[in-house]
Formats: sequence, structure tokens, C-alpha cells
Amino acid sequence: MNLDPRTLLFALILTNVMMALSLFVAAGGKDKQRDGMRLWAMAMLLETLTWILVAARGAIPDVLSLVVANGFKAGAHALALAAVCEFQRRSAPRWQYFVPVALTMVMAALLADDIRGRFVWGGLIFAFQLVLIARMLLSDKETRAGRAWRLLFGGIVGMLLVLGLRAAAALSGYGEFAQPQNAIAPHPVQIVSFIAIMATALIGSVGFILMVKERTDREIMELAMTDSLTGIPNRRALMELAEHALARRGSSPMTLLMIDVDHFKRINDTHGHPAGDAVLRQVARRLAGRLRGGDVLGRYGGEEFCVLAPDTDAEGAMTLAESLRDIIAFRPLTTDLGELQVTVSIGVACCPDDKSRELKDLLAEADAALYAAKEAGRNRVVSFTC
Ligand code: GH3
Ligand code: MG
Ligand code: MG
Repeated sequence: MNLDPRTLLFALILTNVMMALSLFVAAGGKDKQRDGMRLWAMAMLLETLTWILVAARGAIPDVLSLVVANGFKAGAHALALAAVCEFQRRSAPRWQYFVPVALTMVMAALLADDIRGRFVWGGLIFAFQLVLIARMLLSDKETRAGRAWRLLFGGIVGMLLVLGLRAAAALSGYGEFAQPQNAIAPHPVQIVSFIAIMATALIGSVGFILMVKERTDREIMELAMTDSLTGIPNRRALMELAEHALARRGSSPMTLLMIDVDHFKRINDTHGHPAGDAVLRQVARRLAGRLRGGDVLGRYGGEEFCVLAPDTDAEGAMTLAESLRDIIAFRPLTTDLGELQVTVSIGVACCPDDKSRELKDLLAEADAALYAAKEAGRNRVVSFTC
């Protein structure tokens, strides 16, 4: 297959322009989101300008096609690093952006007549910049929580291989390197470089977009599962967690507590809704503070909370419920309106170790027990008995 380097360079420019435009469109209107997308688009744009200058080599002064072009390429890497940093909400030392760009331009000026020297020294600086980006990707747990970073990482590894290949070819003196616009036979390493650069820029950009999308998806999922007033799992999340825990519990017992604030309507009526909201937030905080790692607290609705306690039998359930009741009742809650004495009633439903149970039955039992606790005078714990 005879690939023409000029056509390849044209395809490279075209792909980069399209990618930069698409990224700008995708990042558009998201000024405040600061997810690195705009910086990545700018990196792509600078990369495009690099290849336009390279394509014009011979027709424009060497200072543009060599010194400025190399500076743009190093600048594109610096912008890519800035994009990853902004995505991760971190920052890199300033010298990591500016020193490689300055060094690249000096090197390109000094080695204007030595294409092999440029391949080796320029390659080293570019490789250093790529390693900085790779290090940034690897050192952030949240980035690695998704899968898309691997595409970006793969793009970087691909690019490092290309740089290594170019340097090795230059050092070994293998073949004659031709500039793309020269009529003499193109060097195979040049052809491979252009194809690999196109592929890695594509993979990297797709990886970056997917990385942003993955995180947005995670954040939306978290919002959909969290109660906005108290910050604890909402009813939907609670039900999912409970179903999951029931399915996984095997032969160990499990407990469900239904907790309801006593005479909560009165708090709203006497002190206003904001005071009621403050009470709910503090009740949730106090309950959460008392629970073990494996327990789940969620807001079931209104002023009702549920606790799901795995590995807890009937006796343990009563101890836990009593301590939760006590932690609310033993001292008043503090709100903007002063201290408010609040109590809760708790209905307990236990799932013994040998029986398979459905969540709806457990909920109905806890609800019945809670009703009994209210009937018995409130501020108490009642366990469901058949
Ligand atoms: P009981 O002791 O029998 O449980 O009486 P109660 O007043 O606590 O129960 P009731 O069901 O009569 O009233 C619950 C109130 O909780 C009514 C509703 O307006 C209020 N409420 C539900 N959600 C919220 C909320 O998010 N914020 C506030 N401030 N009030 C809420
Ligand atoms: Mg209620
Ligand atoms: Mg109530």
C-alpha cells in the first residue's frame, strides 16, 4: 500500500479540525462547569494549527513551520495537561506548562537543519509532557473510578510508542527522512507516525469526552438517589439497597426499623416549615451518627426514616432501636429558633436467619409496629409480633 504523506497530513488536519469543532460545540454553554472540555478543544485546535504549519513547510518561513509549529505542538500537550487538571479539579506546577514549550522552541531553532536531532530531542520533551498527563490520570482515584480514562491513557501510550519509534529510526540512521512536501519517497516511519498521531488524537478525544460523560452520569445518579433536605439516601435508593441486602443476606438475620418523628405537624405549625426542615436534618444527622458502617439510613418519606441493619437479630434490633430513640430524646435539638425537644417512635421488624422474606412484608410489619408505638403513647419502641 502506497500512502501519500501529503494526503495523510491533509486527513490529519481535517480530522483534528472536526474534532476541535465538535469539542467546542460539546463544551459550549458550559462555562461554569469547568470540566476541562473547552481546554481539550483548544489543545485540539493548537494541534491542528501545528499540522497546518507543517504542511506549509517550504512555502512559509522556517521559523513558522519549525519553531512555531513545534511550540504549538508542545502547547497542545500543555493544554491537554491543563484540561485533565481542570477535569480533576487539581492544578499542576506552572513550570510543567511553560518550560517544555520554551525548551521545544529553542530546540527547534537550534536544530533547524537536523531533522534527526529534532526527532530525538523534540521526542524527549514531548514524551516528558505526555508522561506528566499520564501521571495525572493515574494518580486520581475518581478518574480511575470510570473506564474512559483508559482510552485517553491508551492514546498517550500510543503516542509515546510513535515518539520512541521516530527517535530510534533517527538514532539508527535508518533511511532518509523526507519532509511531507518533498517529492522523494516518504520514510515509512513518517507514514506510520501520521497514521498513529491521527488515531491517538481521536482515541484521546473520545476518551476525554467519555470521561466527562461518565462523571456527569455518576453525579446525576447520586442526585437521583439522595434526599436533598437531609443528604441521606432517599426512598428510591433505600428500597434498592434494602432489596439488594435482602437478596444477599444468605442465612444471617436482618432488621428493618421504621422511625417517625412524634407530633411533627405541631413543630411545623408552631415554629414554621423551616424549623421543621431543620429538625429533620438534625434527626437524620443524629441517627446517622449512631449507626454502624454496614447499616443504612434513608428517608422513607415526610418525617419518616428507615434503618436497615444487616446481621442484626431480634434482640440486637431492640437494643439498636432503643439507642436511636434515646439519642433523639435525651437532649433537645438546636435550631435557629432555639432548642426544640423532639421524640421519635420506632417500629421494629426482624427477618430471622432461616426464612426468606419479601421487602414489602417487612415494611408492612415495621409500619404496624410503629402504629402500635404511636398508640401506646409515642417516644417508644415496639417490635412486630405475629
Ligand atoms: P405523629 O406523632 O402521629 O406521627 O404525628 P405527626 O404530626 O408527626 O404526623 P402527621 O402525619 O400528622 O404529620 C406529618 C407532617 O410532616 C405533615 C407534613 O406537612 C410534614 N412534613 C412532611 N415532609 C416535610 C418536610 O420535608 N419538611 C417539613 N417541614 N415538614 C414536612
Ligand atoms: Mg408520619
Ligand atoms: Mg410523625
